[in-house]
Amino acid sequence: MSVGIPCPRCRNPLEPHARMCPACGGPALVERAEGEDTPACATHRERVASAACARCGVFGCATCLVVVGDEVWCRKCRPPAPGLAWEDPTRALFVRFVATAWAFLTRPMASAREVKNGSVGWAWVFAALCLAPQVAAWAMVGELAKTPEQLLTIAASTGLLMLGWLLVLPLGEFLALRAMGLEVSFTTQLRATAYSSAGFVVPWCGCVGLALWGPLVRLATLRSAFDLTWGQALIAVSALPLTCVCAVVATRADLPFWA
Ligand SMILES: [Zn+2]
Ligand SMILES: [Zn+2]
Ligand SMILES: [Zn+2]
Repeated sequence: MSVGIPCPRCRNPLEPHARMCPACGGPALVERAEGEDTPACATHRERVASAACARCGVFGCATCLVVVGDEVWCRKCRPPAPGLAWEDPTRALFVRFVATAWAFLTRPMASAREVKNGSVGWAWVFAALCLAPQVAAWAMVGELAKTPEQLLTIAASTGLLMLGWLLVLPLGEFLALRAMGLEVSFTTQLRATAYSSAGFVVPWCGCVGLALWGPLVRLATLRSAFDLTWGQALIAVSALPLTCVCAVVATRADLPFWA
């Protein structure tokens, strides 16, 4: 049997955030007439209560109740949401974004423990929002570009930067961790990268954040997500960039650097 906050009129369990009841066609929030013989929501006295909290017994409307497991509880009794704020659908999107970015910027280690399980796509939406300031910064640089060709180059490098960050870097780290004989999941790797993009929120004020804070958040996230030592995390984070630098240096010097 499906569990949901019951419709105040017909008791049909409603989907979370439903405004209308599909069974009786009535609204999920019902105005309560003066002197009506139905229990009122304890917080919204003008509304008909949908149910009583299974824990403390207080009456609540659909706004005031939440489904916990297979019971309906009031919001005061609801246990703190486990996992990342970004993945808590009961909160407003803006609140979820700010709370998660702040959590990763200030407590990357503790936050990264929640990275292990969840969807990649939603994590990438978070990353895209974090990277937006960078794109904005690049666009401002774009104004300095004299020709459409220069503008195109800037746009293309921005896209490459984002794609490289979200896909190439985690792949490099994944391979490095595997090479060290560690059991890691690429899904977690992608999620860790996406959430460590919180480091990008800082550089509204310039390159310092990008150059310093971003990689630090990233290092801490990776270490915590996979229970690594600092050394292992450092090797994983730097393996691919170092290889690229060496490759470029080797090409420039006209010497095969692995010889
Ligand atoms: Zn109904
Ligand atoms: Zn309660
Ligand atoms: Zn209420």
